[in-house]
Amino acid sequence: MPDTPPTALIPYLTPTHHRLWCEAENFAIYQIASRVGPMEAAAHKVERKAAHLMAAQGWFGVTLPVQYGGMAAGHVAKTVLIHRVAAVSAAAATILQAGLIPIGALHHWGTVEQKRKWLPRAADGSVLLSIAVTEPDAGGRIGGIETVAEPADDHWVITGEKLHIGNSHLANLHVVVARTAPPTCAIRQSLTAFLVEDDRKGVSLAPHRRRLGLHGFSLGRLALERVRVPAGNVLGEVGQGFDVAMSSSVLYGRPNLTAVSLGLHEALVETTAQWLDSRPRYGGRLSDLPVVRDRLGAMQARLQTARVSAYHAVHLLDRGIACDSELISAKHTGHELARTSGQDGMELHGAHALDGDYTLQRLWRDIQHTYAPAGTGEFQRIHLSKAALNIPEIEWSQYFTAERAWTPAA
Ligand SMILES: Cc1cc2nc3c(=O)[nH]c(=O)nc-3n(C[C@H](O)[C@H](O)[C@H](O)COP(=O)(O)OP(=O)(O)OC[C@H]3O[C@@H](n4cnc5c(N)ncnc54)[C@H](O)[C@@H]3O)c2cc1C
Repeated sequence: MPDTPPTALIPYLTPTHHRLWCEAENFAIYQIASRVGPMEAAAHKVERKAAHLMAAQGWFGVTLPVQYGGMAAGHVAKTVLIHRVAAVSAAAATILQAGLIPIGALHHWGTVEQKRKWLPRAADGSVLLSIAVTEPDAGGRIGGIETVAEPADDHWVITGEKLHIGNSHLANLHVVVARTAPPTCAIRQSLTAFLVEDDRKGVSLAPHRRRLGLHGFSLGRLALERVRVPAGNVLGEVGQGFDVAMSSSVLYGRPNLTAVSLGLHEALVETTAQWLDSRPRYGGRLSDLPVVRDRLGAMQARLQTARVSAYHAVHLLDRGIACDSELISAKHTGHELARTSGQDGMELHGAHALDGDYTLQRLWRDIQHTYAPAGTGEFQRIHLSKAALNIPEIEWSQYFTAERAWTPAA
């Protein structure tokens, strides 16, 4: 039966959010849960079915306006969908979140023509997108991007390599950030974002490889060998690639990964509590022991903190209130708290969770994957220290107030 939202979230949820909560819960239980086993068993394969099922729900359009076929439901709604799916399958939730980041970028930065062409297809899921920023030698340092785009008549020619690209094997359209000015130029003028169709000559993907966790999620290596794209495929203006990448990361990537961590955290606590409550010891159960309860209580406290911080941040975002540091802190803390609970959960299971097909092991593996994307812990703390020191930074949550991508769901 569908779960109901915890009372702590009631202040953040409208009737639309409640409806989506039930829909996502049902969907995860009846359509995704049965896929978890096969996805774990075939870690070398990309999961396509879950992507298509979520696309059929219209969820890739959750933040898009109705005029483009979207749900216009906002960021809290997006968090509800990702969170509820992640509680059942973090890999499936990561497919959804990774697709939503470039869709946000296209909506915020696209021309009217680009939006008319791509957004309806993104909303109905007939086109899936990826955002390709990370590179082998640049990592989280966007300023180190070496992929180059050079002008040639009315085209650009892009050459370079992108790594760890979410949904790369599913996407029909990649948002690629490339260098269009020498490294000596200021970073905010040096990069440009491009829409690159997956069937353009020179685009290639290395085969999908098994990773520690998130089995089924494609996190691939994308090569661009003298790929010609028309000038009309520039997303934003030439030189605005840094802004496209950063705004997408802060407004979409961070809250999306927060929601994945939160779903995993809930599953970690629930799995551990059930185990402790069923394991016999001294004529009772392990959950009767005070020391064990103390650790479980700490897990529950962390979960409750993570839950409120995740929803509070996107609630502010939906209302157009400056909230970059809340988004960043929720992502950072949400991962840290869930990872700590994951370690507690593993230890409270003794040797049992070391069995390969044990649920907790999957959760523990998956939670390692929400640290790096959309800013590693170090980068988040650098941003947050600037908030503490009152050092001004661009507030991406304020940047788009003139043309908001979402309206709070009624
Ligand atoms: C699940 C998942 C999904 C992802 N999806 C995408 C995607 O869709 N598109 C995309 O482009 N990328 C994606 N990534 C890649 C992700 O953005 C990068 O992993 C991340 O930016 C870090 O880069 P890196 O792994 O190369 O680590 P590095 O940048 O090499 O960093 C290694 C370590 O050094 C630290 N470090 C580096 N520089 C500094 C510094 N200046 N100060 C302090 N510490 C520093 C880092 O914090 C980290 O601990 C994804 C990754 C994962 C795991």
